[in-house]
Amino acid sequence: MAETSALYKSDDVAGYPEVAHDVKARLFDEVKADLRFPDYLYGCYECGICVAACPSARFYDFSPRRIAQAIAREDVALVYQQMEEDIWECSQCFSCVRCPRGNNPGGLITIMREVAINNGLASAREALEGYSRIIYKIMSTGTQVSPDMLQPDAFPDWGPEVKDVSDNLALWRRALPPETLHTTSTGWDVAERTLIELYVIWLESGVLEMIREVDEGLHAILEEIMQDRLEEEGIEP
Ligand code: SF4
Ligand code: SF4
Repeated sequence: MAETSALYKSDDVAGYPEVAHDVKARLFDEVKADLRFPDYLYGCYECGICVAACPSARFYDFSPRRIAQAIAREDVALVYQQMEEDIWECSQCFSCVRCPRGNNPGGLITIMREVAINNGLASAREALEGYSRIIYKIMSTGTQVSPDMLQPDAFPDWGPEVKDVSDNLALWRRALPPETLHTTSTGWDVAERTLIELYVIWLESGVLEMIREVDEGLHAILEEIMQDRLEEEGIEP
């Protein structure tokens, strides 16, 4: 694990923690070493088509063009700055894949996020802080929140809109087209075999290990749940 204290040489320079240049270069090398990288960047015309398609660019000081350009120019300082700031504004919708150059700025951001998480960058910890409960739910049960769970008392941090949804839950659920969304007893029920397969995938692919970098307590809980369940199945974790 990359220790945050060892990684950062000073706090909050220009709004984000500063690191030595060789650390920035190493992080950039990790981005470029990803198997998907050659498929996601072919140079940049600076045409701005990705920006026009990007919903996040409308609401934040964010631009997929700036991401593609910084990487294409191998600007390691700017790429590091983007990993501490910009990349968390992306909604991962991939509207930017209409790039005429064949780039995938959203895909580049996926890689940058993974590198940020694997190295325990402050931005990754901050961005994922509010998602511990959702990560726990998905990785322990194999599914996300169900419509029945949208109750204001259960999710006060989701704001006043949740009360409106829960007050009119029956209506909302009828409005959802897929049949499986109408009930919590079928579509949201993950088969035991599927759950075991998910545990093996999360353990073997290193996804569970990534959680350790941003939340050690959550990692320990999930690891225990998965290992106990796999041992019951006679699978060596
Ligand atoms: S659409 Fe492609 S070529 Fe145009 S600015 Fe965006 S990344 Fe660059
Ligand atoms: S994936 Fe990210 S960068 Fe691409 S269009 Fe969507 S929000 Fe914008």
